[in-house]
Amino acid sequence: MLDCLFCRIVNGELRAAVVAEDEWAMAFRDINPQAPTHILVIPKKHIGSLDEAAEEDTARLGRLLLLAKRVARDEGLASGYRVVLNNGAAAGQSVFHIHAHVLGGRRLGWPPG
Ligand code: AMP
Repeated sequence: MLDCLFCRIVNGELRAAVVAEDEWAMAFRDINPQAPTHILVIPKKHIGSLDEAAEEDTARLGRLLLLAKRVARDEGLASGYRVVLNNGAAAGQSVFHIHAHVLGGRRLGWPPG
């Protein structure tokens, strides 16, 4: 999508600190980190939110989670990490291209705020 921030990162129009990538997904550091490790994992295909995900995205979303696991391992988060999908404005979603936050490197409270 032309006016989507994360599509522009996928297309190489915008720079990001990319830490991992495969055919399906891309992982890059969040510009406003909420933990010592804060990485976003996105599908290369534009999907606005979890609500917009369809049956045909099943494998794509599975790959996204596996890339999140790989990133967490590469970041040394063996003692634990959190994977968060904010869905919708009321849940804090501000960029409408689905993304998983991978957070770790500090004690993470529960429930989240
Ligand atoms: P959410 O609020 O769940 O939609 O998360 C969007 C995230 O994208 C926020 O944590 C932002 O800090 C992050 N973000 C926004 N623009 C960029 C960018 N250009 N590069 C990396 N992260 C970004």
